[in-house]
Amino acid sequence: MTRTALAIDIGGTKIAAGVVTDAGEVLVRAETPTPARLGPDSIVAEAIRLGMSVLGMPVPGDSVPGTVRIDAVGVGSAGVIDDHGRVVSATDILTDWAGTDLRARIGEAFGVPVLVVNDAHAHAVGEAVRGAGRGHETVLLVAVGTGIGGAVVVSGSPLVGAHGAAGHLGHLPTAAASGLVCSCGREGHLEPLSSGTGLPLLYRRLGGDAAVHDSREVVARVRNDPIAREAVSTAASALGGAIGGLVNTVDPGVVIISGGMQNAGAYWWECLRDGYHESVLPALDGTQLVPAVLSDDAALIGASSLAITHASVVAPAPDATDAPTITEEDER
Ligand SMILES: [Zn+2]
Repeated sequence: MTRTALAIDIGGTKIAAGVVTDAGEVLVRAETPTPARLGPDSIVAEAIRLGMSVLGMPVPGDSVPGTVRIDAVGVGSAGVIDDHGRVVSATDILTDWAGTDLRARIGEAFGVPVLVVNDAHAHAVGEAVRGAGRGHETVLLVAVGTGIGGAVVVSGSPLVGAHGAAGHLGHLPTAAASGLVCSCGREGHLEPLSSGTGLPLLYRRLGGDAAVHDSREVVARVRNDPIAREAVSTAASALGGAIGGLVNTVDPGVVIISGGMQNAGAYWWECLRDGYHESVLPALDGTQLVPAVLSDDAALIGASSLAITHASVVAPAPDATDAPTITEEDER
């Protein structure tokens, strides 16, 4: 029998929700801007409202709207998420987001088991199980957009680490970033050099046109502007070199490149692969770097896949009178 989950993806700019089957098919989806500055109560309320609204949408092939049954809710959220579905820490992209008990709040609203993961982990799982990583047991996903993140996915589950923070690939040290201050406060990390934000900064540091502020403008100039060519080459080959080191450590079946920079064009990919082949072990040189294929739905598909497989029931509230009482006697 087909199992179905409601998936909710809470990001810094938008919230998406969808009803997804265990085969990774997104039956219905909707999205709305995140009320990022209004605090966790507003953000959670908007996520629940959007989730309720997609459950009320007519599912293709099902003539009666609002009758879709879900087995679980999977939530992907910005921030570091602990085993209990709580936000442990977050950047200030969502005001006061740290401390939010997402599993409890969303569980109360929908009455089914809930699983909460970091949104980058959800995205990586989606690509690994239903996208470009299909058929591979171990997948390394590298997301290169305004920042650089990613995940290692093994058998459909993300490696989350001891503190929920695994996958901060942008904070690998790289020689070419020496002296550059990173978003984390440290110096010499990959992110300020090779991210979509880093590329135009590098271009201008090398003496390029001071009016250029967007990575797409740099990429568009590589044919005619030697400084743009040098910037793309430096940024992409450093990223490729770091990925080679990760492949040497993790030995994935495939490496998926996602995020805005996956569309940075043939020259960027050529430099990325050159840097990669210079650093990867000869024995692992056949491991391919491939672009992501699921775009916006990856996090919904990943969150639903994890929820259907692993979601657990939300514990009853401590003051619930009908909750079974566990005494010390029972625990022994
Ligand atoms: Zn850093």
